[in-house]
Amino acid sequence: MRHKAGHVPSLYTIATLGSHSALQILKGAKDEGFHTLAVVTPANERLYSSFAFVDEVIVIPHYGDFPKLEKELNKRKVILVPHGSFVAYLSMEQHKRMTTPYFGNKAVLDWEADRMRQREWLTKAGLKMPRQFTKASEIDRPVIVKLYGALGGKGYLFVKNPEDFTARASHLVEQRYIMQEYVLGVPVYIHYFYSPLTGKLEIMSMDRRYESNVDSLGRIPLADQEGWDISPSYVVIGNQPISLRESLLAEAFDMGEAVVRTSRQLCPDRGLFGAFCLESIVTPESEFFLMEISARIVAGTNLFIDGSPYSYLNYDEPMSTGRRIARELKNALLSNSLDLVLDQSSRLPADASSGKNGETVAVPGPGVPAN
Ligand code: ATP
Repeated sequence: MRHKAGHVPSLYTIATLGSHSALQILKGAKDEGFHTLAVVTPANERLYSSFAFVDEVIVIPHYGDFPKLEKELNKRKVILVPHGSFVAYLSMEQHKRMTTPYFGNKAVLDWEADRMRQREWLTKAGLKMPRQFTKASEIDRPVIVKLYGALGGKGYLFVKNPEDFTARASHLVEQRYIMQEYVLGVPVYIHYFYSPLTGKLEIMSMDRRYESNVDSLGRIPLADQEGWDISPSYVVIGNQPISLRESLLAEAFDMGEAVVRTSRQLCPDRGLFGAFCLESIVTPESEFFLMEISARIVAGTNLFIDGSPYSYLNYDEPMSTGRRIARELKNALLSNSLDLVLDQSSRLPADASSGKNGETVAVPGPGVPAN
């Protein structure tokens, strides 16, 4: 492991793995006055070192080696901000075993990692989900077949009816998958932040994913598609910003609050807090159908490193989700309540501040700078 030369942190360091939304997280951390640390693989070292807001870089051979740094990180005042790569590269066990101070509640991971439990969570919160089918013979409408562990929509299959399933998807019996009613509509991904310090929910931003080739089929007239064996695929290529019709915004806000509220019953006692995303499809009847929940910062927020129209309503300064996380950590430190925003596995340095779980503490709300 090599360290980039830099000053020794005098305060807290915000650290994350160098991928996914690390640049956003570390830029936000710097803007809020933290020391910043990127843990990277050799291939990424030059990129992350090239940014002035990255104070320190630690190079490890593979992202899976990250837990080996635990001892070293725990000697310092380091707080980890997780993103999608933590779940992708570390096993759930490794993830949970680490005691380095961690922003968020790891108990939520059990509910998020399992599609059936996600379904229970979201339906308990009163949100609508696409109908699920267990057998090909039950299929009475177009469905999407989703492989477990597929990332970014890779390998998903659109199936029209039971015969179509037998012809194209029966080879999948060896693998784990779910079959869902295909909801025709606009995929809208809503990025939220829930503050355990203020008890308030904020909509930070939104995006729609751009997927190949399904989003390109409309470029070829239907008549020309005839006789051409094209099936839609759902591989994520990028994200586009979207703003929601304002008449739908109240429902989007309510959905976020319901998910947070329900999470407290499922993962007592603190439930979900920090950044999360509801992945929905909005139908022509303006109904939201939920595909999934991500219980942390999502890559779609990278569109808004400079803030979004929604974050601008709460803050008169650029406020990305990454920066909002750092603001929460700063507010927690200033109000002596770091415990409230860290997972309970977090081993805090001896002189770190403490607060009591569940207690509301006086901190500035959205829009009010912490200093
Ligand atoms: P990620 O983990 O990156 O969010 P994923 O592999 O979990 O992706 P999903 O988010 O479940 O994949 O879905 C990928 C895409 O598949 C969606 O953006 C959407 O276009 C399509 N899709 C998923 N479920 C449905 C559904 N029930 N009806 C219509 N389209 C769907």
